[in-house]
Amino acid sequence: MGCLSERYRKELPAELPEVDAWYGKFDWVEIINYLLPDCNNEADYRRVLSTPSHSAYLKIAEGCNRFCAFCAIPLITGRFKSRPIEEIVEEVKTLADKGVSELNIIAQDLSSYGIDLYNKKTLAELITEISKVDKIKWIRLHYAYPADFPFDILPVMRDNPKVCKYLDIALQHISDNVLNNMRRHISADETRTLIRRIREEVPGIHLRTTLMVGFPGETDADFEELKQFVEEMRFERMGAFTYCEEEDTYAARYLSDDIDSDIKQQRLDEIMQIQEEISFDIQSEKVGKRIEVLVDREDEDYYIARTQYDSPEVDPEVLITKDVELIPGNYYHVEILEAMPFELIAKVSNTSQN
Ligand code: SF4
Repeated sequence: MGCLSERYRKELPAELPEVDAWYGKFDWVEIINYLLPDCNNEADYRRVLSTPSHSAYLKIAEGCNRFCAFCAIPLITGRFKSRPIEEIVEEVKTLADKGVSELNIIAQDLSSYGIDLYNKKTLAELITEISKVDKIKWIRLHYAYPADFPFDILPVMRDNPKVCKYLDIALQHISDNVLNNMRRHISADETRTLIRRIREEVPGIHLRTTLMVGFPGETDADFEELKQFVEEMRFERMGAFTYCEEEDTYAARYLSDDIDSDIKQQRLDEIMQIQEEISFDIQSEKVGKRIEVLVDREDEDYYIARTQYDSPEVDPEVLITKDVELIPGNYYHVEILEAMPFELIAKVSNTSQN
């Protein structure tokens, strides 16, 4: 069940005959009926968290209308569809009652939230409503689309203490040539203006972006422009990928995958090396500072925690020395002792839990 089976439902059974049954991404009722034949369709499909019990992903919309040239997601998930505010807030209350205090908000296109339902971008209203749920402490936003950015979210991010000063916004590239070919509906100048405005309106924000190298037609000059952009913007967090052709996308149909795979890899290595130094500098600036963390788990030598600037699974972690006993799921203030490229070492500076 999932994206792969949604997309290749006809082909997969022949490839993997040992699989008992196949379900598409949205076939909840069908799979439950298969697993529990006596269960009626009105059953309460309660959500079971696969994350630590204090943290949950919260999907606020499904699908995407942007049709970037390289991306198969709209072909799999269909048109963009927001979930109503009331329904989301109800889910948040249920999660909070179960002990969740950190919400990682996700959508393929956060920027469009509300347009299909309320005729206007409604992300700011939604996040404000979610923040009113008592036990929620951190709300972190993922996957904003840079064109048509909902600027009214910025004062909420600045002024609402529950909203993390963190935004995941995939930019993919900066050269106008590549952005056009990617069908991203934004120019280099507009991208720079957007990033500057976000940083001005939300001081201290940590931006995570994703970039792609080796897209069809990316010249050496385009790649140089991308490297300069990374050096200039100093993203707090950045991931990069090499272009990989996805069946039936615009790029697969109409553009030639003309960059040699060695060159793609070389460009990826170069850009990640630049970012590694930037990340290390930014992490190093935190040494000596007192900062709030959420403890995720305990291992043999450290408690493993994150700050509001660290999304689970992709961002650096904070390793806290075991001088005092801490409880996973609780928030503490720590003092940062040392920075490493992808981790911070810290000790508890105040054992009183927040
Ligand atoms: S890259 Fe993101 S915005 Fe573009 S089509 Fe895919 S999901 Fe939509």
